[in-house]
Amino acid sequence: MAASMASQAAAKGLRIGTSKHILHDKLKCTWLNPRRWLNLQEYQSKKLMQESGVAVQRFYVADTASEALEAAKRLNAKEIVLKAQILAGGRGKGVFDSGLKGGVHLTKDPAVVGELANKMLGFNLITKQTPKDGVKVKMVMVAEALDITRETYFAILMDRAFNGPVMVGSPQGGMDIEEVAAKTPELIFKEAIDIFEGVQDDQALRMAANLGFRGPLQRQAAHQMKRLYDLFLKVDATQVEVNPLGETPEGQVVCFDAKINFDDNAEFRQKAVFAMNDMTESDPTELEAAKWDLKYIGMDGNIACFVNGAGLAMATCDIIDLYGGKPANFLDLGGGVKERQVYEAFKLLTADPKPLL
Ligand code: ADP
Ligand code: MG
Repeated sequence: MAASMASQAAAKGLRIGTSKHILHDKLKCTWLNPRRWLNLQEYQSKKLMQESGVAVQRFYVADTASEALEAAKRLNAKEIVLKAQILAGGRGKGVFDSGLKGGVHLTKDPAVVGELANKMLGFNLITKQTPKDGVKVKMVMVAEALDITRETYFAILMDRAFNGPVMVGSPQGGMDIEEVAAKTPELIFKEAIDIFEGVQDDQALRMAANLGFRGPLQRQAAHQMKRLYDLFLKVDATQVEVNPLGETPEGQVVCFDAKINFDDNAEFRQKAVFAMNDMTESDPTELEAAKWDLKYIGMDGNIACFVNGAGLAMATCDIIDLYGGKPANFLDLGGGVKERQVYEAFKLLTADPKPLL
């Protein structure tokens, strides 16, 4: 039950990346990091990747169906992929409230791109990582599609267990990576990176081989991993996740999906990255709390929690749960809180009709 509180908070506000689930699978339910890392849309992450020499396909973004149609024509590609842009993963297997199945579609016909975009834009996409009503799609990516012979998983993340960055990979990438991690953990490979030395050639080549890249593809994949690590450092990322890192019949290694999280402490020197922050998918109460440097996550219960320190806040949520109650929120005031912040925190709590104050 304590676990369910932590995972509820995590699912609601702290969107833990897939790879963290993989690394922390044993601790999965009790692990909670009271920070909300900046998260960008796939197309924004892919722009950063392109700038760092990472292989991604040509793409355009559109916020209307007619723009999507135009973009599909302009691409002039043999096959086109249309992808809904929301911050959550699992889009391929998601469902729209328009009835359309799948947030990722392949087609050879630009006209179909227009029709599908019409059923995506303005509708909610529900995936296993979104709240139950889904998230409204305001933007689609229209990209060149490629045949994929094999889908692998690759990520770099900052991990406390390794006291630094670690590469995580699996030859079984694609849409069911969570299942791979749960059922066949031996297919998840890790390489700790010495932050002072960077990714060594032998590490990248070993990871590429573990991911099943053979012959010239092994070198190509290793090269992509090193470029991804350069990007990871350059933008102060806490996680760069590529799923799938795919292999094409023409012998290319390509990043087909991208998810980058950034360290909020680096905001002062990553102005361009943080300027891309799209707050429209965030909970307004949580945004208001962030303005006052308070960590607030709304939950389903009816007992308000008003606590100094994330550990104590977690313990308080768990104790409430242990005695049969349900927390209405997780609110960490943090150390060194000032009077004005306490005042604003009370305002946030009293604005919520659920808690019994
Ligand atoms: P999500 O992880 O949110 O489901 P992905 O971007 O990984 O979204 O897309 C889901 C699947 O769609 C991929 O695993 C891949 O099989 C396929 N796919 C995505 N992009 C392309 C592309 N450019 N060309 C061909 N297939 C693609
Ligand atoms: Mg993916």
